[in-house]
Amino acid sequence: AKSAGKGRYHFFDSQLESRVRTRQRRLDELRVALRDDQLLLHYQPQVDTATGRAVGVEALARWQHPVDGLLPPAAFIPLAEEAGLMPAVDAWVIRRACREAADWATQGVALTLALNVSAQSVTPALVATTIEALRESGLPPRLLEFELTETALLHAEDTGVVDVLQQLAALGVRLSIDDFGTGYGSLLYLRSLPIAAIKIDRRFVQAAPGTAQDAAIVKSLLDLGRTLELRVVAEGVETAEQLALLRELGCETAQGYFFSPPVPGAEAVRHGRVEGES
Ligand code: C2E
Ligand code: CA
Ligand code: CA
Ligand code: CA
Repeated sequence: AKSAGKGRYHFFDSQLESRVRTRQRRLDELRVALRDDQLLLHYQPQVDTATGRAVGVEALARWQHPVDGLLPPAAFIPLAEEAGLMPAVDAWVIRRACREAADWATQGVALTLALNVSAQSVTPALVATTIEALRESGLPPRLLEFELTETALLHAEDTGVVDVLQQLAALGVRLSIDDFGTGYGSLLYLRSLPIAAIKIDRRFVQAAPGTAQDAAIVKSLLDLGRTLELRVVAEGVETAEQLALLRELGCETAQGYFFSPPVPGAEAVRHGRVEGES
């Protein structure tokens, strides 16, 4: 029994060891991926609930891995976060997305472009990257929106975060809070920071038709948005029933599989054309 126990520890040890090795390899590969442009962007439409037209898109990163195929963010973003690599990932995304969206603009498709920005990335370098990407691409700043999580705003007051956000807002870039209602709770930042929009987390949206409590939460977030003059986007809409309730509650913008999953840029632009302007 003793030796079996020992063997078990060895087993766990080597399992842990191989996990550490796998992570290290992935991380090395990710650095190469950033250098060699193996990342790519899919775009999910944000839709006007009254007209069904796309008014914007959210860019979502994927990794075209040379061996393992197309990897979702869950396969590399947590890892990049742990290694402090998110500023590099987000900078890549900002440059690439601005270029692609500026291209659509020349084809007559003026969709707002929402990009996810990790808490780690909210430093003065983000402002520099953004200025550079806007200049390089010619994309009008008012079409650009950064989605931040509440974590990014948690210590906003005692760090340089406020300055960074104010500089971004001064450029004309809009700021929104992602997964709203799931984070660290102080609503103070809504008053003190230049926030233009909140995104209601899909857990509330999806539960709302079935549960009075969740419906009440969605309603109160929409009320909050109206009171503070924030745009409110409902995430994760999958059914006609969810959409109907959102409309009834006065939600103007929604996003989710019901309209479209994230798709390659060319396809997202077709949505923009068919349902949007030209
Ligand atoms: P998120 O920003 O909350 O993005 C929404 C996620 O929900 C996306 O997953 C999207 O594909 C998925 N989704 C959209 N509609 C529906 C729906 O109707 N039902 C369900 N069940 N899911 C829906 P994805 O693409 O796997 O991205 C996961 C997360 O990875 C994102 O969550 C975001 O936090 C992060 N992420 C993705 N791209 C980037 C990036 O370029 N930079 C940063 N910092 N984070 C990113
Ligand atoms: Ca997001
Ligand atoms: Ca979200
Ligand atoms: Ca999320």
